[in-house]
Amino acid sequence: MNIDQLIERTPIVEQIRAAKEVFWVNPNVCPFDEIKGNLPLAASDIDDAEARLARFAPFIARKFPETAPLHGMIESPLTDVERMKDFLNESYDAGVTGRLLLKLDSHLAVSGSVKARGGIYEVLKHSEDLALANNLLHDDYTVFDSEAARAFFEKYAIHVGSTGNLGLSIGIMGAALGYRTTVHMSADAKAWKKNLLREKGVTVVEYASDYSLAVQEGRKLAAEDPFSYFVDDENSTALFLGYAVAARRLKKQLVEQEIAVDAAHPLFVYLPCGVGGAPGGLAFGLKHEFGDHVFCFFIEPTQAPCMLLGMATGLHNEICVQDVGLTGRTTADGLAVGRPSKFVGKTVEKFVSGIFTVSDENLHAYLRGLLKTEGVFIEPSACAAFQGAVKLRETGRFLAENGLTAERLRAACHIAWATGGSMVPKDEREAAIKAFRA
Ligand SMILES: *Cc1c(COP(=O)(O)O)cnc(C)c1O
Repeated sequence: MNIDQLIERTPIVEQIRAAKEVFWVNPNVCPFDEIKGNLPLAASDIDDAEARLARFAPFIARKFPETAPLHGMIESPLTDVERMKDFLNESYDAGVTGRLLLKLDSHLAVSGSVKARGGIYEVLKHSEDLALANNLLHDDYTVFDSEAARAFFEKYAIHVGSTGNLGLSIGIMGAALGYRTTVHMSADAKAWKKNLLREKGVTVVEYASDYSLAVQEGRKLAAEDPFSYFVDDENSTALFLGYAVAARRLKKQLVEQEIAVDAAHPLFVYLPCGVGGAPGGLAFGLKHEFGDHVFCFFIEPTQAPCMLLGMATGLHNEICVQDVGLTGRTTADGLAVGRPSKFVGKTVEKFVSGIFTVSDENLHAYLRGLLKTEGVFIEPSACAAFQGAVKLRETGRFLAENGLTAERLRAACHIAWATGGSMVPKDEREAAIKAFRA
């Protein structure tokens, strides 16, 4: 199909290819109760993932002492960012009338990004599978912190393709267990992430091209070696479920903070999106907890809106951003993905409310705004979340069709999911703060 045919079938492609900031309403959304039985994964799969993380908690607490206060649970705070809300209302005319909260996955223990959920979960699951199959594990999960376990896992390799943060989480946990870990990195990955991994003894292979090729190569190398395991960011259900567990914990935090989520109190969640696994898994978990009272939106850079292209055209991984003339290059390195996950696109196609895109310039402006108003630094990719809060009011028809009246919006809660940032070094922070300043 040529570009003109594509635009005729899916008119929004015209604005996407011009790298405009857009909002796409998902026309396929159904009541969650009607569709959840037909999804490839179920609530019982989230139960299973949650229970596995609980089994590993004693090991995590021992190996990563910063998790000891939460007894080995890797979890982040949920905080009110009232001053940021005022900033967005004043500088961007966002018109947010409800509460604005920040979910600080940027400050998750072990690897400082949302990937500390999915990535670490998948390494742990694989390790449990191997240990059980080889009669290494009985009841005590602190056995994973033993010489015997290290000697065992040294025989095995893990490969992963990454724009940066997935590599960090897999690399750090892989190295902690003793695996030979190789991270295949795209050109967009930041040098400090590569250096940090090398310091941990992880092998970093760099690719001149984009993320999809790094993934392909990793997959190929791992397939050649029976002692090798490939973390497949495009197709992994383990990653997806590791992310999904977050929603249950968020529900507890909302209860503790006495924030209601019900018909009168809708919840809006804004999720930065790269290949789709993290926002997809989080949204899947959120829909299971809150059903139709939660509205989940993905946010992508204007130069790398791969999930938007895949979902809006229905072509999923058969289209990439370069096909419509975009570069895929963005300051949001964690979101610099040209081709979306088909598994995620198909899974979320009936429950994700919509997708926004955001310019690099605005990412840096949000970054500075958050730092100035709240004193919190998060990386550019994570700042994409604020675009949802800023642009929601411009989605008039969406709001009307969902009965989101001014009254319900005043009672609403908006969560910007801050997906990464605490490990960004000082000089990188300063560069991000200065970027695009008018
Ligand atoms: C990976 C990442 C995302 C998006 O996750 P995907 O699974 O690639 O969609 C968002 N923000 C940050 C900081 C990330 O590292």
